[in-house]
Amino acid sequence: MFVCTACGRKFSLEEHHQRCPICNEPLQLENMKGKRRDGNVWERYRDFYSIPLSMDYSLGEGDTPIIRVDMYGNEFYLKNETLNPTWSFKDRGTFVAINRAIQMGFDRIGVVSTGNMAASVAAYGAHAGLDTIVLVSENILNEKISQLLPYGAKILKVKGDYGELYFKSLKIGKTRKIYFMNSDDPFRIEGYKTIAYELAEKVDVDYVFVPTSSGGLFRGVYKGFLELKESGTIDKIPEMVAVQAKGCSPICSAYPSGKIGRFKNASTIAHAIENPYPPSGNAVLRILKKNGWKCIAVEEDEIIKAQEELAYKGIFVQPASATTLAVLKKLNLKNSRIALILTGSGLKTKSIEYSKTIPLCDIEELEDCEVFK
Ligand SMILES: *Cc1c(COP(=O)(O)O)cnc(C)c1O
Ligand SMILES: [Zn+2]
Repeated sequence: MFVCTACGRKFSLEEHHQRCPICNEPLQLENMKGKRRDGNVWERYRDFYSIPLSMDYSLGEGDTPIIRVDMYGNEFYLKNETLNPTWSFKDRGTFVAINRAIQMGFDRIGVVSTGNMAASVAAYGAHAGLDTIVLVSENILNEKISQLLPYGAKILKVKGDYGELYFKSLKIGKTRKIYFMNSDDPFRIEGYKTIAYELAEKVDVDYVFVPTSSGGLFRGVYKGFLELKESGTIDKIPEMVAVQAKGCSPICSAYPSGKIGRFKNASTIAHAIENPYPPSGNAVLRILKKNGWKCIAVEEDEIIKAQEELAYKGIFVQPASATTLAVLKKLNLKNSRIALILTGSGLKTKSIEYSKTIPLCDIEELEDCEVFK
């Protein structure tokens, strides 16, 4: 069954719902219980899925490494999601949604995205042999188009309000029978929850920092931990912190009122988390309030610095992912074990502009060069 995250009403999985037909808040699948088995992450947790998952549609997403580093007096566990097939965690959700698409007899799928999710859906759509339509905003950067083009999806630039496009696409999807597997689709959430499973298998952390835009990832990781707790696999859920860029922080700003509004003049280097009107914003606020957890926004210079510091530990992430390390300075934690969800690869975004100049040396004088001294 689908369950509404706001009103709790239930709807049959036989119908293709995406948001609650009564209150228009996000739906999610009922929590599942089970035990861990063998195989890849989809096989190990097969008890936890309400729909069967065929590996025919997999590109090898999930089961990403967890790297331990010690910084600022804390133990960090870096969940390296940059190693997914299209270099972001979006692939986990796309894999589950593609399975749903096939089971429901869709031969066309779509997505509203300007970045990582667009590339992910285009890749998985191509692999499954589905017609794929990607709606992007009019002013999308060429750098982002170039990551999408190779997969052969139909790309359409849309003029007008980008937040509204999310809702409009769902409507068109209904009338034209196209499955728009957007940011907080219930089946995406099912894919994202595997991040919590993989974390819980390997590490016992006090905190999990989650870069948050639409809110889909946050909801997914939370659902994963909840299901493990309900199954008796873990005793307690780590404290989850929703992290945003100050330049686009609709969820953090709505914390006092408890109701999401449109964030005006959004602007941040962390483009992957730049949704000014998050469709799961209210749902994330409900989770934060229920548990007494925080939403924290970080500055641009803190994001850039954190991106550099993570690269100096060997992992090059996008600015959106670097927000997780930047947040630490606001929390002043010591002796904590913290998992950072490093959501996407730095190679997908324009690289940090390093101020350092690189020295040049003639090959004849190589031995006398400064670097060897
Ligand atoms: C999509 C994305 C996020 C945020 O996920 P939401 O589900 O939209 O909250 C964070 N980081 C990266 C790199 C992303 O692509
Ligand atoms: Zn509802």
